[in-house]
Amino acid sequence: MKTHTRVAVIGGGVVGCSVLYHLTKAGWSDVVLIERDQLTSGSTWHAAGGFHTLNGDPNVAKLQGYTIGLYDELERISGQSCGLHRSGGLLLADTPERMEWLKMAHARARYLGLETSLLTPSEAKQLLPLIEEKYFVGAMLDAADGNLDPYGTTHAYAKAAKIGGAEIYLKTQVTALSRRPNGAWDVVTPQGTINAEHVVNAGGLWAREVGRMVGIELPVLAMEHMYLVTDEMPEVVAFNRERGHELPHAIDFKAEIYMRQERTGMVLGTYERSCVPWSPKNTPWDFGTELLEPDIDRIAPSLEIGYQHFPAMARAGIRRIVNGPFTFSPDGNPLVGPVQGLPGFWCACAVMAGFSQGGGVGLALSQWMVNGDPGFDVWAMDVARYGGWATRSYTNEKVRENYSRRFSIRFPNEELPAARPQQTTALYDVMLKAGAVMGDSWGLETPLWFASPGIEPKDVVSFHRSNDFPHVKAECLGVRNGVGVTEIANFAKYEIAGPGAEGYLSRLMTNRMPKVGRIVLTPMLNSNGKLIGDFTIARAAPERFLMWGSSQAQVYHMRWFEAHQPQDGSVRLTRIDMGMVGLSIAGPRSRELLARLTDEDVGPQAFRFMDHRAMDIAHCPAVVNRVTYTGDLGYEIWVAPEYQRRLYEGIRSAGEDLKLIHFGMRALLALRLEKNFPTWYRELRPIYGAFEAGLDRFVDLGKADFIGREAALAEKASGGKLRRVSFAVDALDADVLGDEPVWHDGKVVGWVTSGGYGHYVDRSLAQGYVPTSLAQDLGKGAFEIEILGEQRRASILKDPLFDPEGARMRM
Ligand SMILES: Cc1cc2nc3c(=O)[nH]c(=O)nc-3n(C[C@H](O)[C@H](O)[C@H](O)COP(=O)(O)OP(=O)(O)OC[C@H]3O[C@@H](n4cnc5c(N)ncnc54)[C@H](O)[C@@H]3O)c2cc1C
Repeated sequence: MKTHTRVAVIGGGVVGCSVLYHLTKAGWSDVVLIERDQLTSGSTWHAAGGFHTLNGDPNVAKLQGYTIGLYDELERISGQSCGLHRSGGLLLADTPERMEWLKMAHARARYLGLETSLLTPSEAKQLLPLIEEKYFVGAMLDAADGNLDPYGTTHAYAKAAKIGGAEIYLKTQVTALSRRPNGAWDVVTPQGTINAEHVVNAGGLWAREVGRMVGIELPVLAMEHMYLVTDEMPEVVAFNRERGHELPHAIDFKAEIYMRQERTGMVLGTYERSCVPWSPKNTPWDFGTELLEPDIDRIAPSLEIGYQHFPAMARAGIRRIVNGPFTFSPDGNPLVGPVQGLPGFWCACAVMAGFSQGGGVGLALSQWMVNGDPGFDVWAMDVARYGGWATRSYTNEKVRENYSRRFSIRFPNEELPAARPQQTTALYDVMLKAGAVMGDSWGLETPLWFASPGIEPKDVVSFHRSNDFPHVKAECLGVRNGVGVTEIANFAKYEIAGPGAEGYLSRLMTNRMPKVGRIVLTPMLNSNGKLIGDFTIARAAPERFLMWGSSQAQVYHMRWFEAHQPQDGSVRLTRIDMGMVGLSIAGPRSRELLARLTDEDVGPQAFRFMDHRAMDIAHCPAVVNRVTYTGDLGYEIWVAPEYQRRLYEGIRSAGEDLKLIHFGMRALLALRLEKNFPTWYRELRPIYGAFEAGLDRFVDLGKADFIGREAALAEKASGGKLRRVSFAVDALDADVLGDEPVWHDGKVVGWVTSGGYGHYVDRSLAQGYVPTSLAQDLGKGAFEIEILGEQRRASILKDPLFDPEGARMRM
């Protein structure tokens, strides 16, 4: 065994082996994999081996496409068969809502370059005669679906990695990890200690235990999962004989089952409602290649429906039932990337679909290590997307919810109930009393919209405009015509202080730092010039800055900030989190309201647009920013949490005769659309450059140096490949949701990032990206956006429909 290596990968399941192979492919050959037992001896060996491209996040879907495309290369390099069966797969819809969902998935597949088609029930039956047609309203065919041999595939990765120079140590358990003062890791095993520059936790069923070796509790939990294998079925034999190929895979959403051919019978697996976690606290180290006791009663409700939908299955004998554990994160996507606060410690775990996702995870992680960047957008599987609120018991509830809903529709306006409320502000009960419908924003309850008196505060879930529409409209008009108040506790907040603070921020951000008492908006780029953040920065004192950003990205951002923090103590960096909460007041009468709450001069000359000032507001010590995301006159007022209630009461009583209204996140997001303002995570993501995103005026190329400047200069010179644009859409009763394809001249040329209804301007609006050459006003209806399977005409908006001059914000 070596005593030193560049990377030590812990775990020889399909994921660890993929990471190892991809590291060698990226040019690092001094890498090792350490496996407790034999390759595949965790959850990998008993997998059903199915693969597919479908995923709720388009970027993960792309990575799944990459994984599936990789297997031929892997077989070629390793000489090891992966046992591939590329049979295609059917997704079967039993309701119109499910069919709408499939139409959306099909539309999205167009711009992802995935091959899907929509079918009638009888067309589906042509492909899969086992179907009882009357139970279905339609289907989608995904040509990329198939299945493989889990053992062969894992060994193919391992062999290809060894050809690339990697070493693999079997029967070697990692028992401890410790960090040396120089940052390298000692990986302790009974066979000796290896010193590694990087460690990868690909521990699968033991990922929690490996995390605990470095003092973290990862949000990951194993669930029991059952599938049964039938005896030979005459229907399968006849199909194979007549058609000369295998039956396609099938997912039956209603029955919550997946099916595929296995030899001359079928495999049928379930994601049952009454699901059961496995070993919720600790995974025993001596758990080996044994299976769990099957519990057929638990999956009986799914089988009952499945047997109606596929009558031949009811007649088939059951050869064996497999019950095995595998791991999930709370949202079902993997946990990948470097862990904040632990440089050199990486995660590649909670991969619930190792044969669809393992290749993409390996590719992302290897590029991240070798080049400092995963090379594409991995936000949906970044380990940094969870905060301290994702505790073990929270994870347990959420994973069970996710598992039991694996084949359920998640509507765009649907908030999932498990493990809530997790975090609340002091205004939680006050907001509920005011009629708030709450949503989960990074573990924090946040008002989405307010029901009028007498109306039940509850979303009716739908792909179309829903019951919140008139209420959100009233909130938007209330802001635009008067004044509204909204809670903004769910932003990320940071303090950066010390003699090096200005230089540090100036190097991280594209914009110049403000003078004392002023605010700037600024993107943050990685060295490839791609957007990794978007912040509001206020200078509170010469050496003290306050900064606001996306709440969801705060661990992601802290990881970056810490990686670039000077080591000489000249910069103190604090994530304030819920230590600072806020209320925003917005609308033409908001100044009048603010003036009633303070004895400071807040007139237009004394307190200008983009000013920042500490002042007493409603007796509370506060800092006030003259900015608002509504694009109107407005203010953000920030206080310590113990003052929030006092502040709110002050605002409410002073605003009574101004007809102050509450508004929620949905109104805020609709109002920003009228101003063409982008939002982090939708329009602003690490696949776009600052100029592509239209953030030109926040990038100061005259500044001597900042991360990503070279790439930004090149992007500006070339004009960039893409351009963010806003559209007015001829929508009917459904607005865009995001991820719809944009058509021009009969071709898909771009995609939608977000949209909704602009209630004040009375138009359906969308934002998205198209090639730079098309990002111009090509006339009314020059584009089409596919909403729920229908092409709706769309026109590029050169200027925002609300207040194009920005006079309202500056009034
Ligand atoms: C019944 C069932 C059916 C499934 N069907 C499918 C399917 O059809 N398609 C699909 O894509 N996925 C399927 N899966 C899921 C799939 O099995 C997982 O996604 C995959 O196995 C995850 O691989 P992994 O490498 O992350 O974890 P694991 O396979 O658990 O590998 C982790 C490895 O790390 C080793 N290890 C852990 N800690 C240490 C340590 N301290 N020192 C040394 N070694 C250590 C373990 O011994 C183990 O070999 C199924 C799972 C089950 C249970």
